[in-house]
Amino acid sequence: MANSRPSTPHSTSGSSTSGFSISAGLLEFLRDIAESTVSQSQASLDWNPAYADSATRYGFNNPRNLCYRNSIMVLLLHTPVIYNWIQDYSPCTETHTGTSCFSCCFSRLFKSYWPRAARTKNAGTQVNLNTQLRDMWNDILKPNWVTGRGPVTDSQCQDAGEFLARFLDLFEQRVPPRKPPVQHPCTFHVLRDMNVCTNPDCARVYSGNSRTEQNNILLGSAPPTRTCATATDVVEHYLRDEDASKPCDRCKAPTINRSIVSDPPDILFVSVNRLTYSSVKGRAQFNRINTAVIPPNALELDLRKCGSENVWYKLYGIVYHQGPVTGGHYNVAVKGPNGEWVKVDDTKVEKIEDWRSTSHCQQATLFAYQKMNGKPETIDETSGTAQAGPDGQRTQLEATIGLKGKDTSWDLQKSLELPEGFDLQKQKVKFTLKLTSSSGDVYEASADTILRLKKQQSSPGKRKRAGGRGIGMEVFGRKSKKS
Ligand SMILES: [Zn+2]
Ligand SMILES: [Zn+2]
Repeated sequence: MANSRPSTPHSTSGSSTSGFSISAGLLEFLRDIAESTVSQSQASLDWNPAYADSATRYGFNNPRNLCYRNSIMVLLLHTPVIYNWIQDYSPCTETHTGTSCFSCCFSRLFKSYWPRAARTKNAGTQVNLNTQLRDMWNDILKPNWVTGRGPVTDSQCQDAGEFLARFLDLFEQRVPPRKPPVQHPCTFHVLRDMNVCTNPDCARVYSGNSRTEQNNILLGSAPPTRTCATATDVVEHYLRDEDASKPCDRCKAPTINRSIVSDPPDILFVSVNRLTYSSVKGRAQFNRINTAVIPPNALELDLRKCGSENVWYKLYGIVYHQGPVTGGHYNVAVKGPNGEWVKVDDTKVEKIEDWRSTSHCQQATLFAYQKMNGKPETIDETSGTAQAGPDGQRTQLEATIGLKGKDTSWDLQKSLELPEGFDLQKQKVKFTLKLTSSSGDVYEASADTILRLKKQQSSPGKRKRAGGRGIGMEVFGRKSKKS
């Protein structure tokens, strides 16, 4: 396609596993779309060589509930293409010293966060960085962000993905390219509602009702019935085909509704929805999806559906969220220019080895991937403890405890070692709950129930699913019947 990066030596992987052939009609339709899209940027994805050996050293102060902001800002400061893009396509030419210019604020913050060797002594102090982020936050980010509940304040808990989306929108609005139209590095288009005939001899494409969405973040979700999935599953789920009710005009075969990413972005942000909504006796109830989502080090974006070769991405950041969906805490794991992974939790920075442990994968809520030149040598998709072993060897416990009539719940996760040959089928279990108040009063409750096998989605496709048998325990609402 016209907008793929010419320097990319595309791999030849993939097309053999695709079950579908691309029709002339679809190709023609996609060519029209490609011609109407602005060209992809050529801004460097790489770190300036001056930063090559730099290690991640800083996080940001969290005066109130700003862990989501801090995590996303650290992630963005590990995304050099944004800084490179600003320098290449829209450097600020003003000589102002104010703090209302997005381009200047982000560039200044980036340069302070990554001091070059010669300037290390003077630049990039923690105090300096906190002041710069505070100014950018107060003067640009916060005033331009109004949610359904009104203007954002420092004391609110907000969603990290929403903040990232807001930041990227502002980047597009406030830093338009001064040179001929080029795309921002995180922008991609999804073609939706395109009906395709499933009969391979016909393969007619009905593009009449299709629409194009412009996105910065791929908002996927982990299959809720599984205890373990990969980031690739999340992307596939987002782009899955759906049955269309309309039969083909020409051959009467069923048609499917297809979604296609038509232009691979430089940076692919994959967000994992962890919220489910249900109505219990007319009352809205929010629950957390605790599926462990393992980020492979390399992810393949399937562009075969639009006749292009697939593009590979490498992982460089993971945002984690722990605690209840209505509050909780964010932190982020990022790969520094020196290749080392660290976890940044507000101001705390520490090396992280177990970023693919079960508990981390259950907290992962956003993955940041950067486009690669060609195919990676190794695709490490299932390493880490989050892979489920054979039943009875590694079993994941997920429990939610809620207070009836109160908007509060706690999530518990634990990896269990069950004895060899242990059968979970119809196993009787006993729940015991003990709450000790701050004054020392003890409240107890217990209940008996039986484990039942939950119906699992059959897993289509070729990829080996790592999920073992899942047990989901819901303490909420059951114990009251007995007590
Ligand atoms: Zn400026
Ligand atoms: Zn047909």
